[in-house]
Amino acid sequence: MERLQKVIAHAGVASRRKAEELILDGRVTVNGKVVRELGIKVGPSDKVEVNGVPLDKEEPVYHLLYKPRGVISSVSDDKGRKVVTDFFPHITQRIYPIGRLDYDTSGLLLVTNDGEFANLLMHPKHEVDKLYVAKVKGIPSKEKLRLLEKGIQLEDGKTAPAKVKMLSVDKKKQTAIIEITIHEGRNRQVRRMFDAIGHEVLKLKREKYGFLTLSGLSTGDSRELSPHEVKQLR
Ligand code: URA
Repeated sequence: MERLQKVIAHAGVASRRKAEELILDGRVTVNGKVVRELGIKVGPSDKVEVNGVPLDKEEPVYHLLYKPRGVISSVSDDKGRKVVTDFFPHITQRIYPIGRLDYDTSGLLLVTNDGEFANLLMHPKHEVDKLYVAKVKGIPSKEKLRLLEKGIQLEDGKTAPAKVKMLSVDKKKQTAIIEITIHEGRNRQVRRMFDAIGHEVLKLKREKYGFLTLSGLSTGDSRELSPHEVKQLR
């Protein structure tokens, strides 16, 4: 038996908080009866409906995808471009990515059908470190990289301090490869941070998400997370 709001969240319908609101609003029924109480427990034989729609009791799944460039971090695209779910043709659950990587960014992306888990990881307070490797135009000075380390003003506010490491420079081509670790997940954040110091990002790859890496995977590959990994991420 599990608490009703947890069952709803696990089905990927809403976050646990949103599930509580749905219950309090009288939008949830158990075996045909409206339930407005938080904390009642339901089992596998109970029929739960949200807004009149039965909750499919889907098994939660958790996958790590090495997203190639040229893929939309979405479950469908009206322009017919490749989307992340195209990499999971055998999964019947309604999976979606946790956060997003830009169309042109490659790297580590988590995919799940567990709404509560996704909401938890995407919450700014959760502060999962994400490590990116960026190839940038020009060779940034130490002073400029220091600005990224301290936090830099973007149009949606100052960024949290970042860890930055210059990996290599190509003096002939005037490009540099830089490792940057951030825990926020704002839209196009890494690209905008480098733009703010005057160095356009030419290529971007996410290599780590918390303790997870792309080890053993080639672009387009995926693997299931172990229950232990899922637990560690929570
Ligand atoms: N920052 C970006 O600019 N793009 C991404 O895809 C991820 C982080």
